[in-house]
Amino acid sequence: MERIENAGFEAYFVGGAVRDYLLNKQINDIDIATSATPDEIKTIFSHTIDVGIAHGTVMVVWKNHTYEITTFRTESTYVDYRRPEKVLFVRELKEDLKRRDFTINAIAMNKEGRIIDFFNSQEALRQKEIKTVGNANERFQEDALRIMRGIRFVSTLGFQLEEETLIGIIKNKHLLSKIAVERITTEFEKLLQGKWCSDALAILLETKMYTFLPMLASSKEGLTKFVNISLSQLDLLEKWAVLLLLSIEIKEKQQIESFLRAWKLPVKQIRHIQKIIYWFLEREKMVTWTNHSLYFATISIAVSTEKIYQLLKNQEINPNISLLEEQYRKLPIKKKEELAISGNDLLLWTKKQAGPWIKEMLSLVETKVVERKIKNDKKVIKEWLRECHQISEKD
Ligand code: ATP
Ligand code: MG
Repeated sequence: MERIENAGFEAYFVGGAVRDYLLNKQINDIDIATSATPDEIKTIFSHTIDVGIAHGTVMVVWKNHTYEITTFRTESTYVDYRRPEKVLFVRELKEDLKRRDFTINAIAMNKEGRIIDFFNSQEALRQKEIKTVGNANERFQEDALRIMRGIRFVSTLGFQLEEETLIGIIKNKHLLSKIAVERITTEFEKLLQGKWCSDALAILLETKMYTFLPMLASSKEGLTKFVNISLSQLDLLEKWAVLLLLSIEIKEKQQIESFLRAWKLPVKQIRHIQKIIYWFLEREKMVTWTNHSLYFATISIAVSTEKIYQLLKNQEINPNISLLEEQYRKLPIKKKEELAISGNDLLLWTKKQAGPWIKEMLSLVETKVVERKIKNDKKVIKEWLRECHQISEKD
């Protein structure tokens, strides 16, 4: 910032970083706003990366750290209730702050820590109030994602929505359907992870905003349950799993996939959530975890499943989890690779041609070992296979 200033421009910390700094909260990412244009920034620093020149953002690499530096801008033409098509670079900080969503985010700080507050941001922070910069109705119509952002700040900050802002949300919630799902998901996941998640979900329900979220349009009942259980002990993927379990009736595996794909979650996350749900449905059929199920679920999925199971069945969580971990520690093997025999041993013992039977036999042995029916010892396994005629004497 000193460099930018020495080159004759202004530079400020802006947005969430200043908000969280003033609230004594952990800062998520640091945004710097400047009067210099991207080209000017690029002449000031030798190492820059173009990350969003069209929006005025340049990434500066400085002493092994990266900083996003964005030129002061206004957003003039909004098309179809989404992000503006064009941005206009301006030289005044105030103009830049004016286009920001909520007053708590429309505040700047210079490098000496002096606060620049044109929109009563500090007062809003004291009052714990989320209020749009300017007319709520207009601001939500410009960019409907702000509706989602407003609710997610309820969750992450524990603030209240100011009256006009809440009215604006209720009035314009249908515009959420114009917004790219990925942008909604990003905000929704931040909402799910907030400390005041249940408060935010309650607003989602009361305002009927949920009717414009992917796959949730007719999930009033499920969402009501979701609001009323204590989610604080669950991580993000566990929360997704619970949301899904409560809000749709799972008859086929395909429904889980469709739900999560509608939210455009990454495939890796989808698979993880699917596993939790699969084991949750299994868990309902089991009295308790057998070695067999624990081994195939893996400990992390089993713990997630158990947490959810106990939560939905109103039981206390912690004692059983440590028992489960203890049981897992005592498993004879934790993964296939730890089995005392391999496909090669089987080939050697049987002198049969390689084929799908190898995988089947290994899998049989694996199950027996996990269930402690046989010891994980090469000789013992060979003997067992012979006894149950899986391999013959001649072999
Ligand atoms: P977080 O702590 O999650 O990063 P944040 O407020 O910093 O919260 P960002 O998405 O990082 O959120 O956005 C940075 C800043 O950009 C915001 O503080 C706000 O000033 C502005 N901003 C972000 N999205 C919008 C939007 N849709 N409309 C107007 N201003 C926005
Ligand atoms: Mg941020």
